[in-house]
Amino acid sequence: MRLLMWLALAVLVIFALRKKSLTPPSSGYPSSARQPENNDTGETMLCCDRCQVYFPASEAILRGEKVYCCAAHADQI
Ligand SMILES: [Zn+2]
Repeated sequence: MRLLMWLALAVLVIFALRKKSLTPPSSGYPSSARQPENNDTGETMLCCDRCQVYFPASEAILRGEKVYCCAAHADQI
């Protein structure tokens, strides 16, 4: 009776290991996840020089060489 219990346990372990090997951890992530600078729409993200918040490049306010998230931050010195 004891032997049968161990046998059942061994079968369970083998099945569990097989299930794990069938699903590699690298899959399941889309290729776009490797590009942290882009958001879902694929737009380039910029970092505000004042508050360090990331925002879409289309909303950027330029002051010389620096970019800001809003006019209030761009005009603050
Ligand atoms: Zn800002």
